[in-house]
Amino acid sequence: MDKEKAAIERLQIGAEAAETYYNAPLIVCYSGGKDSDVLLQLALNSGIRFEVLHTHTTADAPETVYHVTETFRRLEEHGIKCAREYPTYKGNPTSMWQLIPQKKLPPTRLMRYCCDVLKEQGGKNRAIATGVRWNESSARSKRGIYEDAAHKPENRIVINNDNDEKRRWFERCEIQAKTVINPIIDWTDAEVWDYIADNKIPCNPLYCEGFKRVGCIGCPLANKHNRQIEFQRYPKYRQMYIHAFDRMLKVRETEGKDNRTWNDGYDVFRWWMGEDKG
Ligand code: SF4
Repeated sequence: MDKEKAAIERLQIGAEAAETYYNAPLIVCYSGGKDSDVLLQLALNSGIRFEVLHTHTTADAPETVYHVTETFRRLEEHGIKCAREYPTYKGNPTSMWQLIPQKKLPPTRLMRYCCDVLKEQGGKNRAIATGVRWNESSARSKRGIYEDAAHKPENRIVINNDNDEKRRWFERCEIQAKTVINPIIDWTDAEVWDYIADNKIPCNPLYCEGFKRVGCIGCPLANKHNRQIEFQRYPKYRQMYIHAFDRMLKVRETEGKDNRTWNDGYDVFRWWMGEDKG
């Protein structure tokens, strides 16, 4: 069976599960990256009933925000319901810059609290489809944010945190009562790009400018070189992180926490970027 056919069948099974168990259409999660554009096209080609959800991380590039707006405009012209979700923390609206002082630590590869709050809250009590793929797992963490929720490994469930080799095309998250479908989990990068070219899918323009990944600016999961390029291109985001780290240090100081060798937000930023070593 070819990959497109298999992905469409997965979407159809997901849509059926959504209607049967949630009495609502499947939600297609749309980030504005290439994988979610492919997922969207597959959903359109599959003939299923679906809605589209974009979770605004607050740290996305302006080009990504614009691409999402344009994609939504086209979908809405065809009568497809599209929604944006804005993050909240402890019941209040939040952002990357507010979350850092609230969490009192910078987000890191091992402490990805930002994904939990800024990206993963959508689609509770619903069936959702994501563009997660195994192909991108090698450079990323092998752990999902929900793993720690259960003490026994056999009870742990990994859901829509990031791409991971342990992911499956059909998953359940009991905590959020979500069913998660990953229709293109077994697609390679080349297959994604071929599908984009064959179907003439309009993509995030950042890919044309050499970006391999269009997640949050400064994401600690990206490599150092890419993060440096991002901050050269978006110096205002660099400043916002530094200001957030400044506020984080003040909170830590107020609470009597050790501020290590950090004197200010700039020190934290250099440590966070791995620029404080040699
Ligand atoms: S993609 Fe990266 S920066 Fe964005 S929320 Fe997840 S870990 Fe944080």
